[in-house]
Amino acid sequence: MGPVSNVAREILEGAQSVGEVLLAREVPLGGPRALMVRRTLPHRVRRMIGPWCFVDHYGPDSTPMVVPPHPHTGLQTVSWLFDGEIEHRDSLGNLQMIKPGQLNLMTAGRSIAHAELSRSSTLHGLQLWVALPDESRHQEPHFEHHAELPVLRTEDFSATLLMGELGDQRSPAATYSPLCAAEITLHSATAVIPLQSELEYGLLAISHEATVNSRHLPAHALLDLGAGHTSLTIFGAPSSQYFLIGGAPFEEELLMWWNFVGRTHDEISAMRENWEAQHGYAAVAYEGERLPAPEMPVTRLKPRKP
Ligand code: MN
Repeated sequence: MGPVSNVAREILEGAQSVGEVLLAREVPLGGPRALMVRRTLPHRVRRMIGPWCFVDHYGPDSTPMVVPPHPHTGLQTVSWLFDGEIEHRDSLGNLQMIKPGQLNLMTAGRSIAHAELSRSSTLHGLQLWVALPDESRHQEPHFEHHAELPVLRTEDFSATLLMGELGDQRSPAATYSPLCAAEITLHSATAVIPLQSELEYGLLAISHEATVNSRHLPAHALLDLGAGHTSLTIFGAPSSQYFLIGGAPFEEELLMWWNFVGRTHDEISAMRENWEAQHGYAAVAYEGERLPAPEMPVTRLKPRKP
């Protein structure tokens, strides 16, 4: 063994963790003939990345998305499309079409209800949830649509910034803890994306497999990178797409059940009863039945560490 390989070993041993690959599982999005989604968070081995507690990727698919009115609490929903159109209707009276490259961001706070319906023959997109920290989870609900978003552009990649900060860009979308969400498109075979070392990150391969920080990332899988990185390096096909999420490690114990994010069994139970009684919810403009909540489990729900 010469000095070069010793150096190589030191670099390897001193390097940050290269990350763990989280494979998606397929889940039907409600009802018969349902749209199938690929869910990578929460995952058996990793419940959250920063405040990101839910990552669904669907399509390209011609199955319609029909999600009747249903409630949310304690979180933000992030809707993002690569192809197609979805109409959002909520209990505050918002009616908003979303197209590729636009952000629909719904801050549920104490409670909101919405319906989502595809308005195109094919769909390809993401639905993500951000857990709200305790001091902001009881706020009044509100909805934002951002048609124009900042783009971090280099010779090697473009990153459309939905939320938070990336490089010298900052999104106007409302956030309640340090975080980042960006769609990345490669222009060459290699791209080096700037990261903040105090945030933990995940990279979802949208269209193609890639090699990320020397790990093989299959298409549709999420690489859990952890914190401590100042950059990540993607080797992939030119014009391949990725979705980056990041955030400060979320320290609070959470209880996620159905569409609610809370902290205790009794709180979730009260959220469920309020939805069933339509207490605190204005009607969503929608022809059809709202989604009833499932029965609470017989055993008490326990909050979990992120
Ligand atoms: Mn929803």
